[in-house]
Amino acid sequence: MRFIAILIFSGLIFAGAARAQAIAEAGLLRHIEILASDAFEGREPGTLGENKTVHYIASQWSAAGLHPAGEKGSWYAPVSLVERTPDTYRIYFANKGRGKSVRLRPDEIILRSRSPSFRQSHMPVVFAGYADLERDGLSVTGKLVLLPRKPPEDDDMPDFRNRKLKLIRAGAVGVISVVEDQDRWSRFQRFFQRGSTALADPENHADLEGLISFEQFGKLVRQSGLDAETLLADKDAISIVDLGLNADASAETQVRSYLSHNVIGKIPGTDPKRGALLFMGHWDHFGICRIEDPLEPGKDRICNGAVDNASGISLLIETAKRLSGEGQDRDIYFLATTAEEKGLLGARAFTDNPPVALEKLIAVFNADTIALSDNGQEIAVVGPAETGLDKDIGIVAAQEGREIDRSGKADAYIKRQDGYVFLELGVPAFMISSAFADEERLKAFIDGPYHDVSDEVNDTLELTGAAADANFHVALGRYFASTARYPGIATSGEADN
Ligand SMILES: [Zn+2]
Repeated sequence: MRFIAILIFSGLIFAGAARAQAIAEAGLLRHIEILASDAFEGREPGTLGENKTVHYIASQWSAAGLHPAGEKGSWYAPVSLVERTPDTYRIYFANKGRGKSVRLRPDEIILRSRSPSFRQSHMPVVFAGYADLERDGLSVTGKLVLLPRKPPEDDDMPDFRNRKLKLIRAGAVGVISVVEDQDRWSRFQRFFQRGSTALADPENHADLEGLISFEQFGKLVRQSGLDAETLLADKDAISIVDLGLNADASAETQVRSYLSHNVIGKIPGTDPKRGALLFMGHWDHFGICRIEDPLEPGKDRICNGAVDNASGISLLIETAKRLSGEGQDRDIYFLATTAEEKGLLGARAFTDNPPVALEKLIAVFNADTIALSDNGQEIAVVGPAETGLDKDIGIVAAQEGREIDRSGKADAYIKRQDGYVFLELGVPAFMISSAFADEERLKAFIDGPYHDVSDEVNDTLELTGAAADANFHVALGRYFASTARYPGIATSGEADN
C-alpha cells in the first residue's frame, strides 16, 4: 500500500513539474530550424529529405516516451505513391450514326493513362452530369464519361473526387473532366501537365483520365443537339446522357512509383476502451522546387516550408512531450502525415489502414501552418460546429483564456487540410489555431511566402501565437483524454469492445 502511495505521489510531482513547464517559442523554434534547414531539402516525399524528417520526428517522439504505432511495431507506416505525368496522347470522336468525325482543338483536351500505355477504340461517350448512378438505368461500363468538375451551387452534392470514384467503381473506362470556366483552362492545363501524385490504389483511377475545356466540350455536345450550358446547369439531372459518339484514344504516360511514410506514435491510456484522441500534422513540403537557373547558379531553390508545416510538426513534438507520462485515460495518437501537399494522401492512407478503429476516435486535431499570428489570445476553430464537441472546446478555451473567433471565415480552409479526410468519414476533426484567426497575417502569408522558397526561418518568423496554440493543444489533450472531464462516446458501447 505504501509503495503504491509513493508511486502515486511521485507521479503527481512528475505531472506537476511537467504541467508547470509551458511550451515556449524557443522550444518550437529549435525544431523548425532543423526541419526547415537546407539539410532537409524541403522535405519532399521519397527523397533523402524525407528520411531525415521522419527519423527526426520518430526520435523526438521516442525521447518523449511515446510508443511506436506504425507498421510492424515501428514508427513508420509506408505509403505507396504513384506519380503520373502525361507524355503523348491522341483522341478522336466520331458521330455513331453518321460516322462523321468531330474535330477538337488538340490543346484543349489533355489525357493521361493509369498505366504507361493506353489504347482503345470505339468507346461510347456519355455525359454524367450530377446523375445519381444508383437511380440511373444507363450503365457506364466500358464507356468514356465526361464529368463536370463542380456542381452549379455549393450544396450537399458529393464533391468531384467522390463522383469520379463512383463512376470508376461502376466500370467507366475513362473519365474526362469538364473545366467549366474557359478563362481558367490554361491554369488547369498547366497543372495537369505537370503531373500528379496519387495513392498507389489502382481502384482509384480510370484507365484513361483527362481534362476538356468548356469550349471543346460545347463543340462535342452540339453534335448531339445539346447545349453545354444547359447540361452543366442542370444539377437535378438524374440521367446519364448518351452523346451518340464513339471515341478512339491512345495515351503514353510517365508512371513513377515510390514509397513514402507516415510517422505514428502513441501514448497508451489507462482506459483505452473509452476511445482515443489523435493529434496530427503534415511533415511534407515541396523539396527542391525551382529549376536551376544557369545565370544565377547560387540562387535559393529549396522550398523549406518553415511555417507550412515545420511549425505544425514542432507543435506535435512539444505537445507529445507534455502529455506523455501523465497517465491519461484515453489513448492519444500522434500522426505526422506525408503527401498532404499532393492532395491529403498520407491522411487518406492513414484512414485506409488506421492503427485504431476510426469509430474510436473521439476527436482529431490537425496542426497546419500555425506560425503566423502575434496574438496569443484569439483562435479560430476550423471544423464543424455541429459535432457536439464545440461546447467542450469552448470550455477549454475559457480555461486557457483564449477567445474563439466565431465569424466562420476560417472555414474557407476546411477542405484544404488533412482533417478534411476524417470529416468525410464522419470523424470530428478540427484545426484550431491563432493563425487562422489572424486574417491579415494569414492573407499576407498566402499572397507571399506560401509554397515559395521564402517560407523559411528568418527574422519575420512569428511564434507568439504558435506557442500559445501549442499550450492550447496540451490543454485539449488533457481535457479530451480524461473520461471524467469528457465522458464522450456512450459508455454502453463498451461491451462491444
Ligand atoms: Zn502547403
